[in-house]
Amino acid sequence: MDLSDWLSCAGCGMLVYRKRFDRLSRVCPDCGRHAQLTAEQRLGRLLDAGSGTRVEPAPSVHDPLGFEDLLPYTDRLDTARSRTEMDCAVRVVRGTVRGRGVVVAVMDFRFLGGSMGAAEGEAIVAAAEEALKHRLPLLIVTASGGARMQEGVFSLLQMARTSNAMAALDEAGLLTMTLVTDPTYGGVAASYATLSDVILAEPGARMGFAGPRVIEQTIRQQLPEGFQTAEFLLEHGLLDGVVPRGELPQVLQSLLALGSPPGPAWDPAVTDPVIRYPELLSERPVAQVVGLARELGRPTTLDHVAAWGGEFVELRGDRAGADCPAVVGGLADLDGLPVMLIGHQKGHTTQELVRRDFGMPSPAGYRKAVRLMRLAGKLRVPVVTLIDTPGAHPGLEAERHGQAHAIADCLRVMGSLDVPVVSVITGEGGSGGALALAVADRLLLCENAIFSVISPEGCAAILWRSGEAAPEAAAALGVDAVTLLSNGIVDGVVPEPAGGAHQAPAAASKLVRDAVVCALRELREQDGAALREARRRRLRWFGTYREKVAI
Ligand SMILES: [Zn+2]
Repeated sequence: MDLSDWLSCAGCGMLVYRKRFDRLSRVCPDCGRHAQLTAEQRLGRLLDAGSGTRVEPAPSVHDPLGFEDLLPYTDRLDTARSRTEMDCAVRVVRGTVRGRGVVVAVMDFRFLGGSMGAAEGEAIVAAAEEALKHRLPLLIVTASGGARMQEGVFSLLQMARTSNAMAALDEAGLLTMTLVTDPTYGGVAASYATLSDVILAEPGARMGFAGPRVIEQTIRQQLPEGFQTAEFLLEHGLLDGVVPRGELPQVLQSLLALGSPPGPAWDPAVTDPVIRYPELLSERPVAQVVGLARELGRPTTLDHVAAWGGEFVELRGDRAGADCPAVVGGLADLDGLPVMLIGHQKGHTTQELVRRDFGMPSPAGYRKAVRLMRLAGKLRVPVVTLIDTPGAHPGLEAERHGQAHAIADCLRVMGSLDVPVVSVITGEGGSGGALALAVADRLLLCENAIFSVISPEGCAAILWRSGEAAPEAAAALGVDAVTLLSNGIVDGVVPEPAGGAHQAPAAASKLVRDAVVCALRELREQDGAALREARRRRLRWFGTYREKVAI
């Protein structure tokens, strides 16, 4: 046995045959540890063979302070250059991933720990400018220990410089993505790494502003297990996803396909199932409708998008400390065209319901929704929301984190979007927690769904002084399709299979999809500013005598 053919995994210590390790993109077959890749290795695995063109950044100052510690900085730079055959820690290439154009900037940790000096900042800015010039998405693969001390404040300022290069891509509506690899710290984390629209990380990759050693030494705090790892960051709303190296090309392909404005038109063959006249709806006791709306077998948001059959890339996190399980969202392929889908998420079993907080969002859920709405606006992709919640989460934590403001911000941002917005109340439309996702150009309601200012039980307890009066309260509140359509609260009703959506979930999902497709088909022709104006005008006169005239 030739020992040079084998290497030992730094994670689990197992011996791995070197060729096999390389074939697995340097992921340990035993423990799954993702070993570092050089920039060249990364590009080779990411881009279609032969598709890459190097982008050359402008020359930068190399030793602005004439810095010398134990060694002159210039010596350290020379060593790094000869070791890596790179001019700086970032390599920029324009190429294709599975046929789709993209500009990629990849950091190489071997080059002075991926630290950010003027040349690295210049490379990131050059990558952003290349993306702008060719109107292509930008992908940045990060690996960095932080600032380059030897360049002093020249290094520090790269954070502001690169962040503003990212802002220019936001203004141009171009998708930006980061792949966080281990480790990504300091100035890189606190600038372009975390400003991307979509932030993915490799399993186990650590990211943060201050590293664990600094934190422990400064505030003498014991850090929890797994602190700052990708899995920890995902749970705390700071990432969209953790993607194993082998799955990355597929995820990128989906993102590149969905993260661009929709093409010319939807399939004209889809016929609109929506009922627009209350006379065409069958009247039933409201209490029965309330029961059906809460039926646990009704398709959830994730059921709907799965039944629609197109691709869906879930995006997670509010970027501020939490990922609410009761709101889900992401880019979805709806009949061949991209939309931003956002919805409440319940479950079918007690276990699922508990995991999803019974579909009652925390402020982080609404902040995630706002983030995704803004992203849809930036990418010029329509927004589709599916509403099914008993209400926003009532609780100490929710209050402490600003539930009221989080809902209010949804109402404002949704109304301000200049892309088409279609909302469907698919189950329970409970109060402000439901309305927060319902400021739409077209508000639809499933036949057995309800929409109410308060739960019938809550209303009965307060006004009737008895929860048993819930059926009377439900009827008086007018929560059912017939009343809501008659009053012009909803624009139309999506029929359900006989007996309710839970009797034939796939058929119910198809009806919802067709209704959304037809609503969007009509709205897509309209200019963004006109859409926003019409949405606001409709709200302006709501509940006044001018309402009917204005619409
Ligand atoms: Zn291992």
